[in-house]
Amino acid sequence: MRLLDGKACAAAIKQEVAGETARLSGRRPTLALVRVGEDPASKVYVAAKAKASEECGIESRNVHLSDDASEARVLGVLTDFNNDPDVDGILLQLPLPKQIDSDRAIAPISPEKDVDGFHPESLGRLAAGSPRFVPCTPLGIRELLLRNGVETAGADVVVLGRSVIVGKPMALLLSQKGRGGDATVTVCHSRSRDIAAHTRRADILIAAMGVARFVKGDMVKEGAVVVDVGINRVDDASAPKGYALVGDVDFEPVAQRASLITPVPGGVGPMTVAMLMANTLAAYKMRTGS
Ligand code: NAP
Repeated sequence: MRLLDGKACAAAIKQEVAGETARLSGRRPTLALVRVGEDPASKVYVAAKAKASEECGIESRNVHLSDDASEARVLGVLTDFNNDPDVDGILLQLPLPKQIDSDRAIAPISPEKDVDGFHPESLGRLAAGSPRFVPCTPLGIRELLLRNGVETAGADVVVLGRSVIVGKPMALLLSQKGRGGDATVTVCHSRSRDIAAHTRRADILIAAMGVARFVKGDMVKEGAVVVDVGINRVDDASAPKGYALVGDVDFEPVAQRASLITPVPGGVGPMTVAMLMANTLAAYKMRTGS
């Protein structure tokens, strides 16, 4: 078993982005980060994205709105960033407080600045086979597979989860024609029957359900590549904070059968942030024609 080291791979990608931004003349690529409310995980994620931007030579503009911000207020901030010619990418951190409908909030983001890839136009383009911006988590997973020499063409891939953020775009991406695609993809969800029967025949298994340690050792084929997207908090009296973060995969027994496996943390998470940087640079290039 070898670890699919997302942290190292993300560091390499960020270095490549930084190398490119260092050679640019004129203004730097600029990413707007919009956070609404006090979700603790969102605070950590946005801080990580701002830090990565700095490392990559990308300017970040941070807006934090209060928990009771109206939908109109959020739309106003997004419209201002849409209209700002110096802003290349806009990220609205999810989840949003309950008074704000995330579909309605994402809709006005200009598709040319949709570096998170959640706008219906971005998702539609991906489904149609002409992607522009692909959601960062699935994009990062494909990049991690590519850079570790994992062949996807003809592979049986099983994706656990069908969210718009991870599972659905992951399935679309791996079934695209061409490099890093051409896989035969099965998507499982909460209404799927006998999930283990699917996972046991997967050459590549991607778990994105948000259920702690769901994938057990006997659910995985010998030699499979296992990607664990899940980030779940479980009680752990021995941990300083009283909880630990675990994935959707029961790591130890699955690692014994897998040929390659991502750790949690240090697997998919850092790749998500790195691909946001890559998407922002791509948006800058597209908008400036450089
Ligand atoms: P989500 O929107 O809650 O979607 C979960 C998906 O899993 C749904 O499609 C759901 O099925 C399916 N599911 C849930 N329980 C199931 C069960 N017992 N059996 C079969 N299917 C089940 O979650 P998400 O946003 O995709 O995130 C999934 C996990 O990835 C979470 O732990 C999240 O924190 C993590 N995540 C990590 C990153 C990263 O960068 N590392 C990024 C995004 C998300 P239905 O559709 O039928 O409800």
